[in-house]
Amino acid sequence: MSDASLEDIVSLCKRRGFVYQGSEIYGGEAGLYDFGPYGVELLNNIKKSWWRRNVHLKENYVGIDSAIFKHPKVWEASGHVNGFSDPLAECKECHYRIRVDKELNAIGVEADEKMDEAALNKLFDANRDKIKCPNCGKKNFAEAHAFNLLVMSNLGDFTGTNERPVYLPGEACQGIYLNFKNVVDTTRMKVPFGIAQIGKAFRNEISPRNFLFRTRELEQADTQYFVKPNENKEAYDKIKADRWEWYVNDLGLAEAKLRWKQHENLVFYAKDAWDIEYNYPSLGFDEVEGIHDRTDYDLSQHMKFSGTDLNYQDPVTNEKYIPWILETSMGMGRIFLAVMSDAYTVEDLGNGESRTLLKLKPELAPVKYAVFPLLKNKPELVAKAREIYEQLSQQHICEWDDNGNIGKRYRRQDEIGTPYCVVIDFQTLEDGTVTVRDRDTTEQTRKKIDELI
Ligand code: ATP
Repeated sequence: MSDASLEDIVSLCKRRGFVYQGSEIYGGEAGLYDFGPYGVELLNNIKKSWWRRNVHLKENYVGIDSAIFKHPKVWEASGHVNGFSDPLAECKECHYRIRVDKELNAIGVEADEKMDEAALNKLFDANRDKIKCPNCGKKNFAEAHAFNLLVMSNLGDFTGTNERPVYLPGEACQGIYLNFKNVVDTTRMKVPFGIAQIGKAFRNEISPRNFLFRTRELEQADTQYFVKPNENKEAYDKIKADRWEWYVNDLGLAEAKLRWKQHENLVFYAKDAWDIEYNYPSLGFDEVEGIHDRTDYDLSQHMKFSGTDLNYQDPVTNEKYIPWILETSMGMGRIFLAVMSDAYTVEDLGNGESRTLLKLKPELAPVKYAVFPLLKNKPELVAKAREIYEQLSQQHICEWDDNGNIGKRYRRQDEIGTPYCVVIDFQTLEDGTVTVRDRDTTEQTRKKIDELI
């Protein structure tokens, strides 16, 4: 079962050390979250799975890790300085700003942030009586205007004037475009090939909300696939299919909770764009990842703004061209939330009791084995259990727990998704077998220690 609400997920994340509100001891800071001890393990396991499929298992893909800060012109070339904005309207009563396209969507009106201002304001005007200020409850808004989302910094400004503002990345993928030429010049990659990166991005989201779904600091896992002009269509379909497979096969997400959504309003240079959406608890279907067919826009822009020739020369035909790009861009927070939501299960035990478990794929689980001595006051059991714990820890992430009765220890591990609990009892001392308890079935089987290792 997973009719969990978002609140249930947030509460488990907090209670069991997966995710904390950012700067909580200071009262919290909006749109920022910290991953706790189990959260960082799960996050890293999702990243590893993504990296394996997109870098290690693909012969013509390589990974990079670019610097967060970039030359300020990068963000002019990318269009972010002038065009990276959300349409906001300010409440004339309390100055609270709302995101007009999202408020329209919430009352069932089709609108999105790429619409031009006049068209959006027309829709807004026609529906003003239905949109209340979430802060003061009045319906007295000014017109919608574009509000830039880039976050600025004073890196390298020693004059105090900040005449050359340096931006935090609005999206992580720009680091890939900046290194396209480096990769071509220094590796054996030949078009078509891809570059993958997981990197941080920052957006001045006016109303960060829904936990990890809309944050101001985020992480994106991106691939950019460089193809010969007009050789985009087949590769695009293949990339889409491959991404879907990762969600279903590698992460094990329920296919019924995923769907495709094609963009209706494309940016002028794009050929096609699809989102993968997940059916989030309390939120419904919403975007986890965008897959974009972007033509030669990105490299052409960087060539124009940097003055560096970014043409690719085919080593066989000597033909020169600017490659077209097929992009996949997934938010790590959103996939983390999807994985948690999908795994979250409350099982009715029939006697008025229930157990909460995370049915994570073992590869994703933060802890693989929990090791328990049956009794903590029997030194010979504890010594044997420590020996097994230390042996297992050489290969797997393990957790030691000797506190409370075994049932309680099982519940604690269920809640963090540990697939196996290993119990060391008196029989272990005699024949070297342990009880292995399965998280999902709760079945217990006796196994030789060697079988686990
Ligand atoms: P949205 O329309 O929801 O604002 P977007 O279309 O602007 O998202 P992209 O710019 O395509 O998103 O970014 C790629 C991915 O990065 C998204 O699919 C999403 O998973 C993630 N992402 C974007 N903005 C945020 C955010 N504020 N918080 C968390 N994840 C985000």
